[in-house]
Amino acid sequence: MAYDLIVIGSGPGGYVCAIKAAQLGMKVAVIEKRSTYGGTCLNVGCIPSKALLHASEMFHHAAHGLDALGVEVASPKLNLQKMLAHKDATVKANVDGVAFLFKKNKIDGFQGIGKVLGQGKVSVTNDKGEEQVLEAKNIVIATGSDVAGIPGVEVEFDEKVIISSTGALELEKVPASMVVVGGGVIGLELGSVWARLGAKVTVVEFLDTILGGMDGEVAKQLQRMLAKQGIDFKLGAKVTGVVKSAGGAKVTFEPVKGGDASTLEAEVVLVATGRKPCTDNMGLAKAGVVLDSRGRVEIDHHFQTSIAGVYAIGDVVRGPMLAHKAEDEGVAVAEIIAGQAGHVNYDVIPGVVYTQPEVASVGKTEEELKAAGVAYKVGKFPFTANGRARAMLQTDGFVKILADKETDRVLGGHIIGFGAGEMIHEITVLMEFGGSSEDLGRTCHAHPTMSEAVKEAALATFFKPIHM
Ligand code: FAD
Repeated sequence: MAYDLIVIGSGPGGYVCAIKAAQLGMKVAVIEKRSTYGGTCLNVGCIPSKALLHASEMFHHAAHGLDALGVEVASPKLNLQKMLAHKDATVKANVDGVAFLFKKNKIDGFQGIGKVLGQGKVSVTNDKGEEQVLEAKNIVIATGSDVAGIPGVEVEFDEKVIISSTGALELEKVPASMVVVGGGVIGLELGSVWARLGAKVTVVEFLDTILGGMDGEVAKQLQRMLAKQGIDFKLGAKVTGVVKSAGGAKVTFEPVKGGDASTLEAEVVLVATGRKPCTDNMGLAKAGVVLDSRGRVEIDHHFQTSIAGVYAIGDVVRGPMLAHKAEDEGVAVAEIIAGQAGHVNYDVIPGVVYTQPEVASVGKTEEELKAAGVAYKVGKFPFTANGRARAMLQTDGFVKILADKETDRVLGGHIIGFGAGEMIHEITVLMEFGGSSEDLGRTCHAHPTMSEAVKEAALATFFKPIHM
């Protein structure tokens, strides 16, 4: 039977694309090599990491955050197995949810490795080695990404002592010490989990700042907050070796600017230096699908690859490696295939770091505006001046709004603080509609809420905040 659409990969890009296409009336099949749907995000990424971040934050809060509120409890006891079981149950509920939605939308699932044979033809090979050829009018490659090692350094992951993000989601005991190679989002989130549970965590980062590419002021503040929580940082440090040792593993690094090498030993080393697109063993070169210089599938503005009717979305193509970016591309490509005007606004994709405090941003950073020579205004408001934040003892952080100096159009928003990942969306929606900071500053905000700080930061771009 010929399908209207075959999607290879069932992560947030692939599964959302499949559901949207089915909703638009297409006959759809999905090929997935894992035993469950949902991709990296639901199985070993966003969802399990957030389950552990929440649970470890509750543990940390019970130990350190309640006393000042007049809640006196005995020292909390960690039941790591139960915490991991909560994480596993959360994953199961989510991947089962995708399987249910496939059934509901009459999407056929094929388990195995998908290969593109050319225009309109895909093969799927199951774990018994049996191959089946499927035909489709359209094909979407949504194979996502996989753990990347450290460029130029041999790293042997055993997922017990030298671990990737996947191993960091299932350590059987809290290590006494952990070195995290990479001060990006994944390293800081998973490093936070184990630091809160008692590990002595040191982050080794190549750049002079954590969260490279994010607003510099926000990144500095987060580093200060994480240092207060006991995390050490070695910045501007180039890792040249990660090897097993008697006490666990040794990380060798040298100053990027030049100088003597140093070594850190830890019970566990987490390598979180980024991810690479999944394009191996899919027959792409043979089929004539062109990759770019970074190994990603090259696409045009309509997500089409070098072969007509073969599209690609998500982590396997250019752009930020984020689940919601993949989802929005999934919707857009399904609409395009259905003859509609699918579109993703890449200028307005929020990014969240789920540390404590959270960091959230959308649009341009000050660094980017300066580099582009754009004249802009800054409005800032600290949570120390926000009543709700004081009531909750969550005064760390601030909101920063960047607006065009001439037109007042909001160009970027950056928040560090409790609940930043939820608050960022009002700036996101405003930017999607091309709103100004005056629009935001004159919008009535419920009192007392943390979000009032967003309004006050907006007021600060064109006049003065009230509470400062
Ligand atoms: P994936 O989710 O990687 O899915 C691709 C699927 O394709 C996989 O299931 C894979 O098995 C399958 N596949 C690959 N090759 C084949 C083949 N040949 N045949 C059949 N199947 C194949 N992003 C966020 O936005 N927020 C977060 O909080 C967040 N947290 C993260 C935490 C961690 C620890 C990690 C690792 C990532 C996190 N991410 C987060 C990133 C997010 O997971 C990815 O951006 C997202 O999963 C990309 O979606 P995708 O559909 O492109 O690919």
